[in-house]
Amino acid sequence: MLHVDEQSAAASLIALEEEHGAHNYHPLDVVLREGRGAWVTDVDGKRYLDGLSAYSALNQGHAHPRIIEALVTQAARMTLTSRAFRNDQLGLFYRKLTELTNLDVALPMNSGAEAVETAVKAARKWGYLVKGIPDGEAEVICCTNNFHGRTTTVVSFSTEPQYRGGFGPFTPGFRIVPYGDIAALEAAIGPRTCAFLVEPIQGEAGIIVPPEGYLREAAALCRANDVLVMADEIQTGLGRTGRFLAVDHEDVKPDVLILGKALSGGVYPVSAVVGRRDVMSVFRPGDHGSTFGGNPLACAVAMAALDVLVDERLAERSAALGALAMARLRALESPRVVEVRGKGLMIGIELDRPARPFIESLAARGLLCKDAHETVIRFAPPLVIEDTDLLWGLEQFAAVLAAA
Ligand SMILES: *Cc1c(COP(=O)(O)O)cnc(C)c1O
Repeated sequence: MLHVDEQSAAASLIALEEEHGAHNYHPLDVVLREGRGAWVTDVDGKRYLDGLSAYSALNQGHAHPRIIEALVTQAARMTLTSRAFRNDQLGLFYRKLTELTNLDVALPMNSGAEAVETAVKAARKWGYLVKGIPDGEAEVICCTNNFHGRTTTVVSFSTEPQYRGGFGPFTPGFRIVPYGDIAALEAAIGPRTCAFLVEPIQGEAGIIVPPEGYLREAAALCRANDVLVMADEIQTGLGRTGRFLAVDHEDVKPDVLILGKALSGGVYPVSAVVGRRDVMSVFRPGDHGSTFGGNPLACAVAMAALDVLVDERLAERSAALGALAMARLRALESPRVVEVRGKGLMIGIELDRPARPFIESLAARGLLCKDAHETVIRFAPPLVIEDTDLLWGLEQFAAVLAAA
């Protein structure tokens, strides 16, 4: 039921954002107020299926009761100690995270970009201390169309003009190779290369899946040349692609794994770098830190978020539902659709024209999606989505594409 005063509430809230906020985003004009599972409700009471999951931060769905319970309980007990003191959650979080990722040592941060920065610092210092690269000359190899966040150093190795324009001067020490091209990686590796930073599937670039075997071959090449493999699984990790980690599809064990987003189930900013002991032990007291990194609230929330992924078998769910969704979308055979690609519930529908009008039509029908790289509709609902809700969502794609 719509009320006139609530409709004007949406308009006035949008006006407030426009007037007093920096315009670094161009959101759809839906003003959301509540979320449960795969569904969200706006200030007018209209319900939408969430087809974005906050860029895969909400793999466990909105307001998962176990995660909220952990949040509320820990918030009432203690939120922050700083790392000047120890807290009773951090060790437990380390144990859970390292066991689940089969790696040795973790370093907690808050945002994804901070974790990427942390990984770059670890790789450089490892390069100097362990590999013996001359001081100040370490190189990290990155891929074209990468997305690793928005800090000044991270945009220094972006190939997207808009992410860099006006923000220089940039941090040196990065080399770019075409994504998916093993020969180019091999040619780029030299004696000063400390690490290869890679997304197993490129999300922001438009759900780009590299050729089969790419990650496995890249990892073997890096190993042979004493180069660290650093997998940015901030978006692909934690069940999104149908395995716990996307590198699991090719049985690759990275030396350094970068996690964020769903590490907290979308409840609180938690990121982490998890890696081999000999790499992570280059950090000495005072080398690196974060006031909020590893705080007990973050740890309690992240442990609950990880438990939910495991106990509800969300990676398996992502694989099964993703296969169903991909098959249905491919069967649409719309002349507007160039390609449907992805893994698990990380799906890109590439159109022959800009995606934004389709996104707006989907929103009008109650499905919230986001365009990626202009012509791609990204479909990545929470992994807890009910089968019937997924089928309903797929019907909305069919209807919008049929109308085009
Ligand atoms: C979202 C994302 C980041 C950045 O995370 P923030 O929390 O926004 O800083 C880095 N890498 C990848 C692959 C991402 O998807």
